[in-house]
Amino acid sequence: MAHYYDKDTILYLDGALVKASEAKIDLYSQTMHYGYGVFEGIRSYRTQNGETRIFKPVEHYVRLERSAKLLNLPYTYSVEELIEATYQVLDKNNLQDAYIRPLVYAPANMSFVPNTESHITIQVWKMEPFLGEKLLRVMSSSYQRPNPKGFHIEAKACGHYVNSILASQEAKANGYDEALLTDMNGNIAEGPGANVFYEKNGQLFTPSLGNILPGITRATVFELAAGLGIQVTEKRITTEELKTADAVFFCGTAAEVIGWDSLDGSGFAKNWNDSLGRKIQKAYMALVTETSIKETINLV
Ligand code: PMP
Repeated sequence: MAHYYDKDTILYLDGALVKASEAKIDLYSQTMHYGYGVFEGIRSYRTQNGETRIFKPVEHYVRLERSAKLLNLPYTYSVEELIEATYQVLDKNNLQDAYIRPLVYAPANMSFVPNTESHITIQVWKMEPFLGEKLLRVMSSSYQRPNPKGFHIEAKACGHYVNSILASQEAKANGYDEALLTDMNGNIAEGPGANVFYEKNGQLFTPSLGNILPGITRATVFELAAGLGIQVTEKRITTEELKTADAVFFCGTAAEVIGWDSLDGSGFAKNWNDSLGRKIQKAYMALVTETSIKETINLV
């Protein structure tokens, strides 16, 4: 297992900075038993001038709030206070290149009735700078993403990740690096923790919103593509179509932008280094380590 904390690690819990080794949760929490909670996955980077900068913190904390509201969890935190708390936790742990995990969880409640309060924790751990060279061997999963008629699929809810774990474990057990899941109609949806794009004839394509998590990196890819003059189209995509792509990549906060080697063992027409995805990957890496800290100040 990865090493997330040691005896000195500090985390944020309901407004206080406390030692990870001493922090407690209630084992009767509704989140613990039913997966009824929401979370975020954020990253901070050491910028080119040596500062610590959280990438798109407003977008992540706005999504956390939306996820909580969609699940009917009490949510009383402001974007400003959570960004401030996150910088404090990073600082206390002397971390710059870090993964940041805010989690909103429910109190003791073994019934299904709504809660009158909730809790929040922010944990951080070291994330090695990205290498990005290794291409992924991806497997079409036998699992589909949760049906949006049964879940708020646009919420980043804890319980949804049972599906991600099953798919990822299946792919790895079969010798692949990662899984690709379809939606309830059998169309391409996303990876267990990343959105997917493919290149065909000089353009990029990605599944439309509705059956996927609206990724913040996905939105960033749209922005970068616009800046590079690359057209991006959202549409319904079949597995057969994806197999005829010139190149494919996953994108997500943790994955950043990462190219594919193959899908179910079949490769793609273009060399990754000549692909649009590679261009986007370079632009993304430059963006996340940019020195500007504009979005962390002057918050509304
Ligand atoms: N899809 C799923 C299912 C995810 O868990 C993630 C990671 N949060 C993503 C897509 C990518 O989202 P983001 O770019 O906001 O990290």
